[in-house]
Amino acid sequence: MFDMTNKYDSENNPFDRQQRIGWWDQDKLRNARIMIVGAGAIGNEVLKNLALLGVGYLFIVDFDVVSVSNLSRTVLFRKEDVGKRKAEIAAKRVKEIGVLDDMLVDWFHGDLVWDLGTGIYRDMDIVLGCLDNVETRVAVNKHCWLTNTPWIDAGMKELGMRVEFYNPPNLPCYQCNLTKEQLANARRRYSCDEFKKTAIDEGKVPTTQITSSLVAALQVQEAVKYLCGQEVMTGKKIYYQGTVNDFDVLSKGVNVNCIGHVHYDEIVSLPLGVDSKLRDFLEQVNSEDYSDSGAVLDLTGDRSFVKSVRCKSCLKKIDIMRPTYRVSEKEWICKECRNRGDYSFDNDMNIESLKETQDVFGLDDCEESILDLTLEQIGIPICHVVAVFDKNGDYKYYELTGDKKLYLSR
Ligand SMILES: [Zn+2]
Ligand SMILES: [Zn+2]
Repeated sequence: MFDMTNKYDSENNPFDRQQRIGWWDQDKLRNARIMIVGAGAIGNEVLKNLALLGVGYLFIVDFDVVSVSNLSRTVLFRKEDVGKRKAEIAAKRVKEIGVLDDMLVDWFHGDLVWDLGTGIYRDMDIVLGCLDNVETRVAVNKHCWLTNTPWIDAGMKELGMRVEFYNPPNLPCYQCNLTKEQLANARRRYSCDEFKKTAIDEGKVPTTQITSSLVAALQVQEAVKYLCGQEVMTGKKIYYQGTVNDFDVLSKGVNVNCIGHVHYDEIVSLPLGVDSKLRDFLEQVNSEDYSDSGAVLDLTGDRSFVKSVRCKSCLKKIDIMRPTYRVSEKEWICKECRNRGDYSFDNDMNIESLKETQDVFGLDDCEESILDLTLEQIGIPICHVVAVFDKNGDYKYYELTGDKKLYLSR
């Protein structure tokens, strides 16, 4: 079964035992680039496994900080880490236990839905979803489909768990089987006009570190099989219920009306990053080497830029000049009304009519003050892939590749 003439001295090779598996390919793991989204209970276990297996490159994403309630389920966090950024601490600790001397670990502290662009996904061989909510899973699914990047989702509740492998463009995708309730749940961070709610009740899932350890092990095992060229269970649900030790693999249906199956045929790299001004971006894509003249940035359906709103109470204009997701719903009441404390508004009012937004940006029809904003200020996340249409209405997709040198060390 295994090669006894192994070029490695078996007791001095940290990977000797796993390499004795016939189909194992340690070089594939060493060269793999894996993104881990979520550095909580499942993410910690996944990272530990990947570091011990000898995976060469990890990119960790999380927006949260370590809390005391995390400590019983997170092998990488210590008491003194409470209040520190999960992604940063996880990166530091996982390097300590990594068996490869030259393992690289990058991290990103930010909101997965709004702050991390599609281009990062293009650079990954596989994405492991270690998340606890539908909204971020939908976002990961979308980016993975856009860029044909496989991803494995993991979920758990009490002693139950599931692992699902999505491998675009092969159907089904994560969104195919979402219920109406789940989709509504994905929008719970926002008011009906897309603005950020001031306070939401975060879902806290009842579970233990035993379950996160089990589910992470299965998830990483699927990733290893995939990276080593073995068959994986695409589009199926691996399910385990610990209370009765019921283990099952369930088939999943394809939803032909699912909107999650969009992908980019071709992406053009642009040597700019989100710190570039909108004007410089537009001048570059309007140059001969790119789209030629008349090219326009189109954020429709991706994110919206709010120029102003009218106070819900007195209808006074309030300048905003920020993307929708950075505007809190309480900003719909002007300072004067808030200070006076005697505002009221009609709940049936057409809120859209109070909001002045811009989704399409061209050199000729954009205000100077907007052209002077950076792409980051417009609301574009790092390494994003943005849509540009030319004077004939044909679309091209540009990646802000300039950001990569800041965030990816390999
Ligand atoms: Zn789908
Ligand atoms: Zn007012």
